[in-house]
Amino acid sequence: MWLEAKQPFVKNMDLDRWPKLQELTPEYLKDRYPHVQIPVYHSGIEQGPVAYKKQYLAEYIDDIQSAQNHTRDPQDIYYLGESHDWVEALEIKQIFTDYIRPLLPRHAFALQTPFWLGPKGSKTGLHAEPDGWNFLCQFYGEKEVVLVSPAHAHLIPRSTRFDGGGKTALMDIWAPTQRENSPLLKETQPLVFHLKPGDILFIPRWWWHAARNTTTSIAFSYRVETIGSTFLNIPSLCLIALHNLGLYKNNNCTCHTPE
Ligand SMILES: [Zn+2]
Repeated sequence: MWLEAKQPFVKNMDLDRWPKLQELTPEYLKDRYPHVQIPVYHSGIEQGPVAYKKQYLAEYIDDIQSAQNHTRDPQDIYYLGESHDWVEALEIKQIFTDYIRPLLPRHAFALQTPFWLGPKGSKTGLHAEPDGWNFLCQFYGEKEVVLVSPAHAHLIPRSTRFDGGGKTALMDIWAPTQRENSPLLKETQPLVFHLKPGDILFIPRWWWHAARNTTTSIAFSYRVETIGSTFLNIPSLCLIALHNLGLYKNNNCTCHTPE
C-alpha cells in the first residue's frame, strides 16, 4: 500500500518479536561499543547555543547514567543525534522491511537511518525537514513529540540558522514563556505524541516538529525517499553543498561549532 497520509500517525512494532532489539539498552551499547567515538552536541541546538564535542560512547553513557537522579543545567545536556556511521551494526534493517516497507511505494529506499541517544531532558527544537517520508522509531525509554502542520508555518517565527537544508524556528517551543506568548499556540493546537518503546511515528514532509526525551531514550529515524522525492530535495542538497564549502551561512548553523 502506498503511504498517502498527509497527517502524522503512530504505528506499533511488536518488539516482542525482536529479542535483539529489546536488548538495545544503554548498558548493552556501552558493553558492545565502548570505544566508538561519537560527536555529541548541545541539546536544543536549533535555538540554543551550538557546541559539539567528541566522546567515547562508554564515557557518554556513563555521563547519562550518573545524571539520572538529579536535575541538570540544560547547558550540560549533550545529545547523540543524527549519528550515522556505526548504526549499521545494530541490525535494525528488519524493522524497515517488516513495518515501514509495506507502507511505501515499491521503489522507496531508506536514505538515512540516524540514531538518537540522550538523557532525560535532551531535546530537539522546532524545525522542519524536506525528507520524503520520516519515521521515528522508539526502542528504549520515552519521548514527547510536538508537531505543527505546514499549513500553520506562517505562525512560526523563522530563524536564519542553517539546519541541513531544513528550516528552524526562532522560538524555543520547550520554554514555557516563549510558548505562552507565541502566536502559534494562541491560534492552533499542535499535535502531541508520547512515544513508548515499539512506537513508530510518521512525520510528513515539511511538518514542523520538536522532540524531548522524558527518560533516557534510544530511537532511530528512517528517512525514506524515492527517485521522484529525491528530485524535490535538490534545492536543499545544493544549499548543504554550498554550506559545507563555507559559502553559505558560515558560522550560523546547527552543524558546526561557531569559530
Ligand atoms: Zn554548519
